[in-house]
Amino acid sequence: MRLSRFFLPILKENPKEAEIVSHRLMLRAGMIRQQAAGIYSFLPLGKRVLDKVCGIIREEQNRSGAVELLMPTIQSADLWRESGRYEAYGKEMLRIEDRHERDLLYGPTNEEMITDIFRSYVRSYKDLPLNLYHIQWKFRDEVRPRFGVMRSREFLMKDAYSFDVDFDAAQTAYHRMFVSYLRTFARCGLKAIPMRADTGPIGGNLSHEFIILASTGESEVFCHRDFLDLAVPGEDVDFADAVSLASVVKTWTTPYAATDEMHDTAAWEALPEGERVAARGIEVGHIFYFGTKYSEAMNAVVTGPDGKDTPVHMGSYGIGPSRLIAAIIEASHDEAGIVWPKSVAPFDVGLINMKPGDADCDAACETIYRELEASGIDVLYDDQETRAGAKFATMDLIGLPMQVIVGPRGAKAGEAEIKVRATGERETIPLGSVVARVSA
Ligand code: ATP
Ligand code: MG
Repeated sequence: MRLSRFFLPILKENPKEAEIVSHRLMLRAGMIRQQAAGIYSFLPLGKRVLDKVCGIIREEQNRSGAVELLMPTIQSADLWRESGRYEAYGKEMLRIEDRHERDLLYGPTNEEMITDIFRSYVRSYKDLPLNLYHIQWKFRDEVRPRFGVMRSREFLMKDAYSFDVDFDAAQTAYHRMFVSYLRTFARCGLKAIPMRADTGPIGGNLSHEFIILASTGESEVFCHRDFLDLAVPGEDVDFADAVSLASVVKTWTTPYAATDEMHDTAAWEALPEGERVAARGIEVGHIFYFGTKYSEAMNAVVTGPDGKDTPVHMGSYGIGPSRLIAAIIEASHDEAGIVWPKSVAPFDVGLINMKPGDADCDAACETIYRELEASGIDVLYDDQETRAGAKFATMDLIGLPMQVIVGPRGAKAGEAEIKVRATGERETIPLGSVVARVSA
């Protein structure tokens, strides 16, 4: 992509409305634009990151055996009347009336709709386990939308729903998602800590929030230092092996970890002081087993091995990709701007032509640009006639993992400079080695 053809509305000034660094940097880097309170457009740079994040989520959901579909944003109120949540949900739900005076709503979540889909087609335990997910916009009329896409009213969510014949199978489904989440967040360059969450009237211990430690997080969290070094399961993790999944979950749920809502002061104070981490955290995911709450209310039953009908056991599993982007920035930035982990960077590399119009610079850059594109590397080519300082500041601000800098003197001598964004390391290499160096 040539910068001269791209749409990258960089802000020079610090936007006054932004209270936290991720919000400030997303606005300054031209990633998002607020359209109404808590409602944002994702501009091209932001959209590219969103796609990367969703790509990782999708790969890890699929790997775990979940199946993607797509449900609409607009739902019928009647479905929610069946579960009793139409009245109960309160003011966070955006209620809409169509021209025939039918009650609709903009979905804040999809338990009712997925249960309706399930009951319409699935009859037998032989069709289970089943886990269906989608990535779709949600609307919740938050009392205090703030911090940009961190807490917005319209936001993207990956929500998965599992269906199983009994509790044991549902527990394995829960473990599959748990492990899938560990992998997803690690691939986004984040250390996410699963913390026990409130299960409400259902009870049990099958609800966890996945929390990123960050000083700007909205909740107070407490965990054992061991979490900081726990290994995340590799790509070869076997999602068909219930025993090994359970053992991963055990490893990741044994050390103490709780948000302030679930905090057990006595258990916490029993830990040696040097092992305690008290911090603030951002919730990026939430998984929850809720049993037969919706299947009973909405008559979603399957015939079990004994020939009897039983309400299906369900769980739901959410990740907020739009919030996740903000969390990644909170965790990875410096004075100059964003520092993207490679896996989610909007482009792999930025190519800076220091002097467009200079024959040597243009020739060197055009060759590198063409060759990088041909090897499948996403490159943002700054071919614009702007000051050197502005070029560097923009590249640092948007945080691409690597920069290739070509100036007139270097181009004449057949050299380019490589800069690694995260460390600031620079090295000069022959023009002919740039593609190999960048792809390494
Ligand atoms: P919170 O406690 O932060 O309001 P929640 O418990 O309401 O979140 P869930 O219903 O579990 O959230 O939604 C699943 C995921 O969707 C969350 O873990 C989060 O990543 C994301 N999410 C929820 N609300 C918002 C929001 N207002 N803006 C952006 N992302 C959100
Ligand atoms: Mg909420």
